[in-house]
Amino acid sequence: MIFPQVELAPADPILGLTDAFKADTRTEKVNLGVGIYKDESGSTPILKSVKLAEEKILATENSKSYLGIEGVQAYNRVVQELLFGAEHRVVKNKRALTAQAPGGTGSLRVAAEFLVRNTESKTIWVSNPTWANHQNIFKSASLAIEQYRYYNAQTHGKDFDAMLADLSQAKAGDLVLLHGCCHNPTGIDLNESEWQRIAELCLKQELVPLFDFAYQGFGVGITEDAQGLRIVADTVPELLIANSFSKNFGLYNERIGAVTLVADTETTVAKAFSQVKSTIRGNYSNPPAHGALIVSTILADAELKTLWESELKEMRERIAKMRTLFVESLKAEGVTQDFSFISRQNGMFSFSGLTKEQVTQLKEEHAVYIVGSGRISVAGMTRDNMPVICKAIAKVLA
Ligand code: PMP
Repeated sequence: MIFPQVELAPADPILGLTDAFKADTRTEKVNLGVGIYKDESGSTPILKSVKLAEEKILATENSKSYLGIEGVQAYNRVVQELLFGAEHRVVKNKRALTAQAPGGTGSLRVAAEFLVRNTESKTIWVSNPTWANHQNIFKSASLAIEQYRYYNAQTHGKDFDAMLADLSQAKAGDLVLLHGCCHNPTGIDLNESEWQRIAELCLKQELVPLFDFAYQGFGVGITEDAQGLRIVADTVPELLIANSFSKNFGLYNERIGAVTLVADTETTVAKAFSQVKSTIRGNYSNPPAHGALIVSTILADAELKTLWESELKEMRERIAKMRTLFVESLKAEGVTQDFSFISRQNGMFSFSGLTKEQVTQLKEEHAVYIVGSGRISVAGMTRDNMPVICKAIAKVLA
C-alpha cells in the first residue's frame, strides 16, 4: 500500500480558519480571516451587473463546445485594456498576449510553471510578508523563493530602503513578485516615485517583474490602482501579470483571472506565449467559459460597465468607512495604542500588529477569527459586528 505513508498536511493558514469557524457553535462568532467582501448585512451578494450579464449570456449562448487553450478572445482583449489602458504602447505595439486562467491562483501557477520550464529564471523574490499561498504556489512550480523586506513593524509602514537593498542582491533573470495594489497582507502600497525606482532597478539589474494584481479598483480606483503596473510596463522590456476578478467582480467561485505576458517585440511574445499555451494544455487543457463571458459582457456594454464601476466604488467606499469606524471604535472601547495607521492602509486587509498569542486568544475566548499574522479582513466588518470585534480586541490588549 502507498497511501499510509502520506503525511497529514497542515491546515491552510487562511482556508483552514474558515473550517474552524464553521465548526464553532458560538452564536456571536465573526470571521475576519479570508478576504471576502461582505455588505452591511454581512452577506456576499452577486453584483447587479453580473446578474444582468448572466441573463444576456443565458439568452444568447448556443454551445458548450470547448474554448481555445487561451480562453475567450474578447475577454483577453478587455483584460489588457483594464491592465494597461487601451492606448498603452504595450497594447498598441502588440507586445502583450493574454490567456484566461482559473483565478489569480491559477494564473500565478501557469506563469510560474511556464517560466521554470522555458527560461533560466528559477528564483522568485517575494515580499516579507506576503499572501500565504505565494510560497505554496511557487514551490509547487519548483521555483526557489527569496524574500525582500517590505514592512517595518515598528512604524507599521513600509521599509522601502530595505526593499531596495534586498532586491539589489537579486541576480539577472531573477523574478520579482510585486503586488499591483492593496498589498496583501499589509495594505501598504508603493507611491509613484517608489514604483519608478523599482522599475529602474528591475531594468538595471535585468530582473523580471511578475505582478500579482488581485485587487484592481479596491485601492483608489480602477485606473489609479494600475499606476505601478503601467510605470513598470513603460520601463522594462519583459514582465508577466497574473490578475484576478474574484474580488472586483465578486466572482470568487467562478475562478476567473488571466496571465499576461509582455515581451520586447510582437514576434518574441508570440513565440513565448505558445509555451504558456503548452503549459495550460498540460494542466487543465482549456478554461471554463462562464466567468470570462460575464466579465467580457460587462466590459463590452457601456451601461453594464458603468453599473459595475459604481458597484466596485460602493465596495471600496464601504471598506474605507469600516477602517475609520474600526479605529474610532477601538478608541471608544478604551484602547490606548495608536491604531490610526489602519485608516491609511489600502484594500481589504488591515495588518493589525496583533501577536500570534493575541490572535489565538481572540479565537478561543471571543470567537473572533483572524489570520495568525494579525491580518484582519476589514471587508468582513459591518456596523453590527464592529462592537463585538472591538470589545474582543480591547480585552486581549488589556
Ligand atoms: N493574490 C493575492 C494577493 C490574493 O490575495 C488572492 C486572493 N486572496 C489571490 C492572488 C488569488 O485570487 P483567486 O481567488 O482569484 O485565485
